[in-house]
Amino acid sequence: MISDQWRAEREAISLRLRTRHRARARGEWLDHHCLFHDDHHRSASWNETTGTYYCRTEDRTWTPPEVTERLFLVSVPASQPRPQRSLPATVPTAVYTYLWPDGTPSHLKLRYEPKRFLQSFF
Ligand SMILES: [Zn+2]
Repeated sequence: MISDQWRAEREAISLRLRTRHRARARGEWLDHHCLFHDDHHRSASWNETTGTYYCRTEDRTWTPPEVTERLFLVSVPASQPRPQRSLPATVPTAVYTYLWPDGTPSHLKLRYEPKRFLQSFF
């Protein structure tokens, strides 16, 4: 059985591929330019249902945590400092910590009143 956590992560991957990587649906698969090599074709496919990421050119697969890390870190080059994000002065009313299935932290969600969410990826 797939947990809500897993489903949310997989949906986030699909959304990001659609909005940032010109993904094209082919049945259950989302074809797109591979995240893991310099790709000029849609060599890679992502299957949200099974959580499978496969690159035909490299003939290998990646796990959803690896794909998520690549997707959400690739837009911030490691050599440049992350842009400073001003934090609200108020103290959050709730802090939710999301974990990967193996127990390592995925991201934080801070809730504020009036209702507002801030997400922070590790
Ligand atoms: Zn590839």
